[in-house]
Amino acid sequence: MKKKDLIFILLIIVAVISLSILLNPFKHSIQMDDQGNYISRYAWVSGQEWSELDLTDANYDSPEAFLKDVDDYVEIIGKELNRSEWINTNIKDGTLDNLIEIKFSSGRSEASGGGYFESETYVRPVILLNIDGFEGGRDNLIHELVHIIAPYTSSKTMSEGLACYINDHYSKYDKTFLFDGSVHLIVKENLEGKYGNLVDYLGNNANGSNKLYTSDKKRDILYYAFSDSFTTYIIENVGIEDYMRLYQSDFKDEDYIDALGSDRQTSIDRWQAYILDFE
Ligand SMILES: [Zn+2]
Repeated sequence: MKKKDLIFILLIIVAVISLSILLNPFKHSIQMDDQGNYISRYAWVSGQEWSELDLTDANYDSPEAFLKDVDDYVEIIGKELNRSEWINTNIKDGTLDNLIEIKFSSGRSEASGGGYFESETYVRPVILLNIDGFEGGRDNLIHELVHIIAPYTSSKTMSEGLACYINDHYSKYDKTFLFDGSVHLIVKENLEGKYGNLVDYLGNNANGSNKLYTSDKKRDILYYAFSDSFTTYIIENVGIEDYMRLYQSDFKDEDYIDALGSDRQTSIDRWQAYILDFE
């Protein structure tokens, strides 16, 4: 082979490798429909809404990059919570009605459909992401996806605790939901005093009366922190499977004993003792 031919072949190889690296972000196929919506395997976002965002400080500079993370998160959550089958049955290619719609709003981030409410198991899932949070790089994305993918629970603190736990462990960007630093230390500082009674909410089935939002913002953030800390403690002690069994139970003492080996009060006492020793 002539030297010239060899150089030519080498150049072709280099060009092919560079091109495949360059095009790699698009390997994960994101399509656009004739309405200008971006559509991935599990979710879609309106091109019009996306174009109105200021992405200077956001975690994503394109709908492709954003939807790729959505798809990755859906699969991570499905695996972690043993819900891959539910995802494949309920969130699938085809029409937009079968996919998670992601919208942006000036209000709180929230999820609806899927497992978030008992009556909504098969309702089309929608996630609203707070615009300021999204534009500022704290987008709550994985947290809200957990609300949709996890099965329904009658305990608000378990629902928020699990969404925070998955966020803390798998979010690519924001490792704590709403608060900064170690969740156990935040709870430790607040176990006694004004907000100590948040403990009463933990892991019971009084979903409706355990109000998440009040006029006291610190208290509301601590609601998440207490829920996150209690959930993290349980999962680290008995594993996700036993935790999920409790998550879907009626939260009676026998459910606690079955999943954790001790009744609710004993479980809470043990968690509190662990938190007080936590450094
Ligand atoms: Zn939540």
